[in-house]
Amino acid sequence: MLNARGYAAEMIRFELEDAVGAEFVIDRQATLKELAIDQYWLTHMWKAKDQEIPLPSYVVRPATTEEVSKVMRICHTHKIPVVPRGGGSGTQGGAATMYGGVLLDLSRMDRIFEIDADSLILTAQPGINGRVLEDTLNRQGLMLAHYPSSVDSATLGGYLAARGSGVMSTRYGKAEDMVISLEVVLPDGTIVNTLPVPNHACGPGLLQLFVGSEGTLGVITKISMRLDPLPETRLLRMVRFPDMHAGIEAGREIMLKRLNPAVIRLYDPGSTKHSLQGTGLAAEGVNMVFMVDGFEDVARVLQQRILDICRSHGGTDLGEAPGLYWWNHRYDFYRPPLQPSYPMLYGTVESVTTFKNIHSLYDEKKALIEQKYKEWNAEYMAHMSHWYPWGVMIYDRFYIKEPPQDAQEVFRLHNRIWAECSRINLNNGALLNEHHGIGFKLGWMMREQYGDMYEVLLGVKKQLDPKNIMNPGKLGFGVW
Ligand SMILES: Cc1cc2nc3c(=O)[nH]c(=O)nc-3n(C[C@H](O)[C@H](O)[C@H](O)COP(=O)(O)OP(=O)(O)OC[C@H]3O[C@@H](n4cnc5c(N)ncnc54)[C@H](O)[C@@H]3O)c2cc1C
Repeated sequence: MLNARGYAAEMIRFELEDAVGAEFVIDRQATLKELAIDQYWLTHMWKAKDQEIPLPSYVVRPATTEEVSKVMRICHTHKIPVVPRGGGSGTQGGAATMYGGVLLDLSRMDRIFEIDADSLILTAQPGINGRVLEDTLNRQGLMLAHYPSSVDSATLGGYLAARGSGVMSTRYGKAEDMVISLEVVLPDGTIVNTLPVPNHACGPGLLQLFVGSEGTLGVITKISMRLDPLPETRLLRMVRFPDMHAGIEAGREIMLKRLNPAVIRLYDPGSTKHSLQGTGLAAEGVNMVFMVDGFEDVARVLQQRILDICRSHGGTDLGEAPGLYWWNHRYDFYRPPLQPSYPMLYGTVESVTTFKNIHSLYDEKKALIEQKYKEWNAEYMAHMSHWYPWGVMIYDRFYIKEPPQDAQEVFRLHNRIWAECSRINLNNGALLNEHHGIGFKLGWMMREQYGDMYEVLLGVKKQLDPKNIMNPGKLGFGVW
């Protein structure tokens, strides 16, 4: 027989079933366990060691904005945590159900509403899978120029909620640069829309408030994104440099001269060894892959200019073939066997800073990992892959192949390395992160990064979500 508490829980379950349909409120243990975690290293350790995982009470699968709104009203009334989940490919614990509650699985919200061919704007639901979306657009000669390495598992909503970057961001921008407008369900169930276009002089940009909010301010339920025509040509090339600093200087000049390549990826020796095997060349030294796209004649001129700049910085042209190989295999490096996995201890401590600061940032982080963590045979590798007119993102990783076995010891080591790398980032005028997000993992350092400005962000959170039901514990908002 149910006790009073049991009846209350049953009542909430009944309300949720009434909102979305009984078959879409799931409490099967296997489903809860599968969806309670994302790609955060810690959650994989829990799973591998068969440790207790904080589970949601229910996985709820709405199909429409109205259903999301009903679910939010119920959770708001009963003060139940809600964790939105796209593809669960995030690496920061953003979609992990640290405090239980309802896991709002958006996978049924996968409809394309419109492709406006005049304006090249897509309007779709957030749960559409990245690969499905790209294939659909490509068949119409179009692309969403956001090509993340997680395209097979991530969703459109996750691209925006985590402020992602794709491999062609250097020309086409990050997800945040492609978004036109959003519909959002607020924590109390209210449905709001941002202005229909992103560029205006009608007050501050509320659109960007929800981009990167990682499910802490509301649920993104409808998205309009800028599309691009598939380019007539894509020209690829690989160039070898005497060292990382020469390569960075070449990249800087390419960007400052506004030559507009779609891709520049500069691999240090560690990253070259890991990622550029199979190009047909010796996987050694410092190598840059670059791609220019668009009209063939224009692209050829730009390619030549870029090659000239690379040569002036000591670069040697390795030709088209290794560049093409890289393009055709660009996602392989993020899949098994090349993608690291538990029991290895690893972390992508990526960041972004100005050209002035990037040299010292690279040198200091490399030295930290290779020298301070020598006793663990720690390895470091870096590539620079999202270039801006003012600076560059550094995608760097540490690896420890044989870390401590004890769960607490290894977690402390993990956190210590993350903290030290993050402080090197901040001390070099860089940020905690460029495209993976903050999630649970880096939340505790948000105040250190933002200073007093963090109070402004917290004020927004408290205004929109006074009961703190939206993804508690993420972005450093804590629990209250
Ligand atoms: C192998 C690998 C490669 C990767 N490569 C890249 C890359 O190249 N570029 C890149 O940017 N990232 C990359 N990532 C990170 C990750 O894939 C991205 O952050 C991705 O955008 C997350 O999308 P998702 O749908 O899986 O989101 P999830 O992991 O499900 O969620 C991420 C966060 O967004 C929130 N969220 C999701 N959907 C919504 C919504 N509709 N409304 C409100 N909040 C929401 C969640 O609550 C969570 O906080 C990679 C990850 C892996 C594992």
